[in-house]
Amino acid sequence: MSLTAGVVAVQGDVEEHAAAIERAAAAHGHEISVHEIRDSGIVPDCDLLAMPGGESTTISRLLHSEGIAPEIRAHVAAGKPLLATCAGLIVASSDAGDDRVEELGVLDVSVERNAFGRQKDSFEAPLEVAGLDKPYPAVFIRAPAIETVGDADVLASWDDRPVAVRDGPVVGTSFHPELTADSRIHGLAFFENEAAAVPSLEERN
Ligand code: GLN
Repeated sequence: MSLTAGVVAVQGDVEEHAAAIERAAAAHGHEISVHEIRDSGIVPDCDLLAMPGGESTTISRLLHSEGIAPEIRAHVAAGKPLLATCAGLIVASSDAGDDRVEELGVLDVSVERNAFGRQKDSFEAPLEVAGLDKPYPAVFIRAPAIETVGDADVLASWDDRPVAVRDGPVVGTSFHPELTADSRIHGLAFFENEAAAVPSLEERN
């Protein structure tokens, strides 16, 4: 049986996330079809979801106006995996520190937008990530910092600040794991997260 993935396609690196999901699924021996999400009604059929970067104010506004926001909350409440990257992390958080962002509140962290931007707009760093045996080449672009971590696990830090976290079925990263050929973060979030349920996989077992 094939899995169904969704990539929130309001903005951002949609094709790159879709390609990374396909590579990670193949590496874990799964067939998958990836759908772009611009309207409500698709998320309920998805086994796993990615929410790309972009501009968090725009993404959160459109998720709410299109009725996609409650569907993503229900997806997470059902224990299905969500990978939220950069602006996606900001939108998924419980506090974006900016009134223009209406958070989904599915990832128990507070963030500061553009926190790494004052030092350098973008950079790549070799990250030690819990669960990965070799460093991950992480690309940061006007990245948010994770300020406080509530009921969530820190998977990686850079410059003494958390940059990857897991809260049950949700993994959030400050960086862009879709921008390198290395799909291990997608693998970790979707196929190696014991706190997340991928229903089609369970039905098969
Ligand atoms: N600076 C963006 C924001 O605050 C995030 C940047 C990104 O997703 N690359 O929404």
